[in-house]
Amino acid sequence: MQINFKDAEQIKRLVLIVDDEFINRELLGGMLQDEYNILYAVNGKEALEIIRESASTLSIILLDLMMPEMTGYELLEVIKADEALKQIPVIVLTAEQDAEVKSLKLGASDFIKKPYENPEIIRARIARTIGFYEDRSFIKSAERDDLTDLYSRTFFYEYAGMMDRYNTEMKTDAAILNVEHFHMVNEMYGRSFGDKVLIAIGDAIKEYLADTEGLACRSEADTFFIYMAHHDDYDGLLDLVNSKIKELSKGLHLHVRIGVYPRVEHDIEMDQRFSYARHACNTLRGNYMRYVAYYDMTMRERSVFHEHLVNDIHDALEQGQFQVYYQPKYNIEGDEPVICSAEALVRWEHPEYGLIKPETFLHVFEENGLISILDRYVWKETIETLGRWRKDNITIIPVSVNVSRIDLYDEGLPDYFMDLIEDNGLKASDLLLEITESAYTDDNTQFIEAIENLRAEGFRIEMDDFGSGYSSLNVITTMPIDVIKLDMRFIEHIHEDDKALLIVRLIMDMARSLKVPVVAEGVEIAAQYDLLRENGCSIIQGHYFSKAMPAEELEALMMPED
Ligand code: C2E
Ligand code: MG
Ligand code: MG
Repeated sequence: MQINFKDAEQIKRLVLIVDDEFINRELLGGMLQDEYNILYAVNGKEALEIIRESASTLSIILLDLMMPEMTGYELLEVIKADEALKQIPVIVLTAEQDAEVKSLKLGASDFIKKPYENPEIIRARIARTIGFYEDRSFIKSAERDDLTDLYSRTFFYEYAGMMDRYNTEMKTDAAILNVEHFHMVNEMYGRSFGDKVLIAIGDAIKEYLADTEGLACRSEADTFFIYMAHHDDYDGLLDLVNSKIKELSKGLHLHVRIGVYPRVEHDIEMDQRFSYARHACNTLRGNYMRYVAYYDMTMRERSVFHEHLVNDIHDALEQGQFQVYYQPKYNIEGDEPVICSAEALVRWEHPEYGLIKPETFLHVFEENGLISILDRYVWKETIETLGRWRKDNITIIPVSVNVSRIDLYDEGLPDYFMDLIEDNGLKASDLLLEITESAYTDDNTQFIEAIENLRAEGFRIEMDDFGSGYSSLNVITTMPIDVIKLDMRFIEHIHEDDKALLIVRLIMDMARSLKVPVVAEGVEIAAQYDLLRENGCSIIQGHYFSKAMPAEELEALMMPED
């Protein structure tokens, strides 16, 4: 949530300075008089009268503690016990460290140290506190999460910020706790059981933080944020969470993971700190050997690098830095292998980093949705290349493009392809669409519908990286697909590992009975090639024949030799 300081700049707010010492009133008043209208009181009693009179217009009270007649503490107690006054923020002015804790407990919002030092900081603190109290949406928003009773994120950030301010010397950690595939719990055991699991996790976190100054919130469904003093033992937290889950159900095995950004830098925004923690947490995805990860310099460099890539993508698209390479696929059914198709693969000729492969940048763009812009660029380039072949009377081979999962959420996708195809004088059958197997797992109905719509237009679908995901082998019997592309990892070992060969044979048999052709990719050596051919594989793509290359090189390769 953003606190709006804009209004505070436009309208002069009313500030009450309560201090028995003339020089202190003068000093503070002098710092604030340009921005605020100021009232003064010399002791608690006088202050209380002014506060009662101007309760509705008073933006903040700046309160000294040691005063005759009525002390600051006493005044604070009266204000905070009064329904009509307690919404007015109070900043305590003090020279003593001990007094801070006591006044915060009594309901002060912040404190300013005496003797007054940097006027800029003092003004910023006052403006910030006023802004915080004035932001209606903030006041209305819930402080706590209904389900777990932990803080909501807005309040959590605010309190975590306060924790920094009140403990400037303290080293703190930002940690994220998350359950991998939590949606499976809901799907398998129902939502109310899922809620119980989240409550149990919340309880474990509360117990863990009980004797500390640490704070926690539930940020999204199954993601918890923790902000606490720096320490090295997050395994303790993990154990506690796991044991609470076990109490709920002995048989339930969840992959709880924790990402920590240790000893946070205070000039980094709170949101960013947790995004670093999330980064660390994400490195544990699918890793069932490690449960806690720390954000470190290498990750830091990587995220800075990723930020650069995200910033650069638009310029790169405009300046044609992305290039489409083509890797031929060979049909090996006959006596001689013949080029029967090709796959379009993107490359980035980055002005600073040189030629970058998709594995370096695709996942970054998948995370933020930019991938669909890049995909469209690649499709357009590819289809235009095919169109040029048509015009130049070069034999056209169907070319496959990769389609990301998020592209399939776009209902206009079939039309988009059709328009491009028609503009370039081509047919839908000139294009193959590769969709990775892992895309097939989540929301099946929507997904199948999207694929059916594409097939209805005449596009053929290749299921890419088959065998890499979690789907069972029989998905090929139920999914609308025209071609299977075996995952490279199967091919890698077929010549040296009987089991790998067995699996490949099994898939081949299954595909044969379904009359779905199989493409093997990542074929590098003759031994792999021979085994695949023996086992009835019809199409091969791999370095054994050729690497991906620019369009012109592929054209030369397709030209009949004289
Ligand atoms: P993929 O679709 O499975 O593409 C095959 C990858 O295997 C390509 O890597 C290719 O260069 C590589 N490869 C082919 N033969 C061999 C071999 O014999 N040995 C080895 N070690 N590798 C081989 P590349 O070009 O780095 O692409 C990686 C992945 O990035 C692709 O995997 C695809 O999923 C994705 N990708 C590439 N271009 C695009 C695109 O334009 N859009 C989207 N969404 N994804 C793309
Ligand atoms: Mg592919
Ligand atoms: Mg593949």
